[in-house]
Amino acid sequence: MSEFVVSARKYRPSTFNTVVGQKAITSTLKNAIKNSHLAQAFLFCGPRGVGKTTCARILAKTINCFNITENTEACDQCESCVSFNENASFNIHELDAASNNSVDDIRNLVDQVRFAPQVGRYSIYIIDEVHMLSSAAFNAFLKTLEEPPKHAIFILATTERHKIIPTILSRCQIYDFKRIQITDMVDYLGFVAKSEGIEAEHDALHIIAQKADGAMRDALSMFDQIVSFAGNKLTYKAVIENLNILDYDYYFRISSAALESDIPSALVIFNEILDNGFDGHNFINGLGSHLRNLLVCKDISTLQLLEAGQNIKDKYMEQAQRFSQEILLRAINITSRCDINYKTSKNQRLQVELALMQICSLTGSQQQGEPEKKNLINSPGSVSTPLKPEKKEIVATETVEKKVEFVIETPSDSYKEVKESSPTVYKKIISGTTSINAATTVKSEIKETENENSITDKTIEQKNFTEEEMIAVWNNYAALQKNTKPSIYAILTRNIPALKENFLIELNIDNSMEDASLNIEKIELLEYMRKQLLNNGIQLIQKINIAVDTKKLYTQREKFMHMAEKNPNINKLKQQLDLEID
Ligand SMILES: [Zn+2]
Repeated sequence: MSEFVVSARKYRPSTFNTVVGQKAITSTLKNAIKNSHLAQAFLFCGPRGVGKTTCARILAKTINCFNITENTEACDQCESCVSFNENASFNIHELDAASNNSVDDIRNLVDQVRFAPQVGRYSIYIIDEVHMLSSAAFNAFLKTLEEPPKHAIFILATTERHKIIPTILSRCQIYDFKRIQITDMVDYLGFVAKSEGIEAEHDALHIIAQKADGAMRDALSMFDQIVSFAGNKLTYKAVIENLNILDYDYYFRISSAALESDIPSALVIFNEILDNGFDGHNFINGLGSHLRNLLVCKDISTLQLLEAGQNIKDKYMEQAQRFSQEILLRAINITSRCDINYKTSKNQRLQVELALMQICSLTGSQQQGEPEKKNLINSPGSVSTPLKPEKKEIVATETVEKKVEFVIETPSDSYKEVKESSPTVYKKIISGTTSINAATTVKSEIKETENENSITDKTIEQKNFTEEEMIAVWNNYAALQKNTKPSIYAILTRNIPALKENFLIELNIDNSMEDASLNIEKIELLEYMRKQLLNNGIQLIQKINIAVDTKKLYTQREKFMHMAEKNPNINKLKQQLDLEID
C-alpha cells in the first residue's frame, strides 16, 4: 500500500497556471518576470489557505529556472528546478514568524542574506505570518529590507495586513489574494477526485467548497477526511454527516411549514435538529441564509448570487416561486432579530421557537391582505401553489404592491447605477412605465394583469381613508420612533407623505442613503399603517427628490415650495389647516 499524502500537498500547484482562483495575481507576477521588473520585496496579503505560500514558492522556483518557458513558467527540468522539486534548493529560505518571531530568529535570517546563491540568480526569503514578528524583530529586519543585496528577494505573507507597520508596507509591492470562488474550488476538487479515482457527487463537492469559505487548503483537507471515511464514493449525504452540516433539507422543510402556516411541524423539525446535536444559533443563521437564497431566486438579475450545486439550486427555484417577496423579507427580518437577541436571551430555545412561530404566521396574514401572486407563478417549470378561493377577490392589491416592490427593492447593481447616474430614467421606473429588466417573466406579466385587476378593484374589502387620516397615523408612527431611531424620525417627518390611488403612499426623500434606511424600516412602518387604517392594501413608494439631491433646500419656505410643487395636495392641506410657514 502506498503512503498516504494529503491532497493539499500532493496537489499543491507547481506552476502559475495551475494556481486556483488567483488569475490576476499570477499573471501580474508572470508579467513582472517576463519584463524583468521584479520588485525586491513583496507582501502577499489575504485569508489563510488561498495560495500565498504556494505562489511565493512558484515565484522563487520560476525566477531561478535556467530555461523559463515561453509561457513564463519554470521548465521543471533544469538543475535549479529539480532541486526545488526535491525540496533541496539552497535558494529558498522560509521562516514561519508565527513560531519564530524573536530578534534572534530574524538576525539569523538576515545574516544569510549577505551570501549570494551558488546556483541560480536569486535567494528568496519567505516570511510567513509576518505580522507575528515582535516589534524589535521588525526593526532588526527593516534595515535589510531598506537596502537588500541585488540577489535577495523577500516575500512576506500575512493574513492581517493592518498589523504591518507602514515603514514595511511602503517598501513592498503589495498583492491582495482573494478568497477562492466556490465554482473554482468545485472544479479543482473535481479534478482531484478524478485523479484519485473517486466518484464524487457535484452537490457534495459544493458543500465542501462552501464550508471551506474560500480556503482551498481547508477544502482539500475536508475532502481527505471524508474520503478516508466514505471511501471512493463521495456523496452529499456522507459530506453533511461528516462535516456536521445541517442538511438543506431541514431548511426546506421549515420553509414548507411556513408556507402552510404549520407551526407544529416547524417546532417538531426544530426539535429534531436540536436532537441531532445542532446548535440553535447556527440553525437560525442558517435559516436566514436559506430565506435569503429563496429571495435571490425571485429575480433573474440576482439569481447569480445563489451559490449552490445544481440539484439544490433547482429546489430553491421551485420553492421561491411559492413565496412572495414581501413574506421573505419579513421572514429574514425575523431571523436577523432572533440572531441579535439570541446571545443575551435567558431562554434561547424559546427565542428560536418564537421566530419560527412568527415566520409561520406570516403566510396567514398574507391570506387576508396579500395574496399569493397567482398570476405570477405560471412561468414554465414552476410549481403553483393551490390558492384558497377567498384569495381571489383581493387580487387587485397585488398590482400596486408588486409594482412597488420591483421598483424599490430590485437589489441589482445595475439598477443602483441607473438610479444614481440618470435621474430621468429613475423617475420613469418609479412610475412603473419602464422596466429595467424586462427579461423576467414576472415583471412582464404584471403589466398584463394590470387592467383586469383595476376592474375588480371595487369588490375589495379595504377601508377607505383620507390623506389627512393617513398623515395623522404616519405622524404617530414617526413620533414613536423619535427617541429610538432619530434618523428615521427625521426622514419620516421632513416631507409630508402623499396619498396616491390604490392606497399607495408616496414619500419624497432626499437621497439614496435615506432610501436605503427607509427600506429597512418599511416593513414595520407598513404593518403599523395597515393596522391603524384597517387597510391591508397600503403600499409605500419612495421617490428620490432629484432637485433636493443636487440642490439643497435650506429655509422652511424653500422646502415647502418645493414639496408643494411636487405634490399640490400639500398646498391644499396647508390652506385647509390654515398653516403658516415661518
Ligand atoms: Zn528550470
